[in-house]
Amino acid sequence: MIRASCQSDLPLFSFDMYEVLEEAKGKFTDKVFNPVDVFIIKQATLACIQMDGTRQAISLHRLLNHCETPREIIKFIFIHELIHIIIPSELNGGKIVMHTVKFWEEEKRIIPERNLYWGWMYFHFFPLFRKEKESEGIFIRRGWEKTMAHSRLSLQGYLDLGKVLNENQNSTMAQGL
Ligand SMILES: [Zn+2]
Repeated sequence: MIRASCQSDLPLFSFDMYEVLEEAKGKFTDKVFNPVDVFIIKQATLACIQMDGTRQAISLHRLLNHCETPREIIKFIFIHELIHIIIPSELNGGKIVMHTVKFWEEEKRIIPERNLYWGWMYFHFFPLFRKEKESEGIFIRRGWEKTMAHSRLSLQGYLDLGKVLNENQNSTMAQGL
C-alpha cells in the first residue's frame, strides 16, 4: 500500500522536486511511467520505491531533505529508483536480488557520471551509511539529525575539493621523493 501524501515532510530543496522527477523520467526515452509520487519520510533506508501496479511512490529519507542537497543528487536518486521499475528483482539462490548486474549496467548506461553522485553522497554521509548483509540498500544510522546543521557542498564544490586534495597529495609526494 502506498502511503498518503499528507504524511510527507515539506521539501526544503532549493528546486522543485517534481520538476526534477520529470527530468529523471525524461532519461527513459522509450518508457511511459504510471504516475509517480514522492514522499519525504522517516524511514530506514536512504531511498526506496514502492509499486502497486498503477502507481509508484518514491520515498526519500529525511537526511536528504536539506536546502543544500544538490539538484543532481536528487535527480540521480530518482533515476536509480525508476530503474527499479524497469529492471525487476531476480531470484538468486532463494534470495531476492534487487540490484542485479543488469541493474548496475543500466544505471551506468543512463548515468555515466554516476560515480560523481555516489562520491558526493559518500563524502557527506559515509559515517551514517550502513549496509545490511541480509537486505540490500543503504540504511541510515541513528544520529543523522546532527548532520542536518552542517553545510553541504555543491557538486562543483565537491569536484574542486577533490582537485585541491589531489594537488596536495601530489605535492606532498613530490616533497617526499
Ligand atoms: Zn536501488
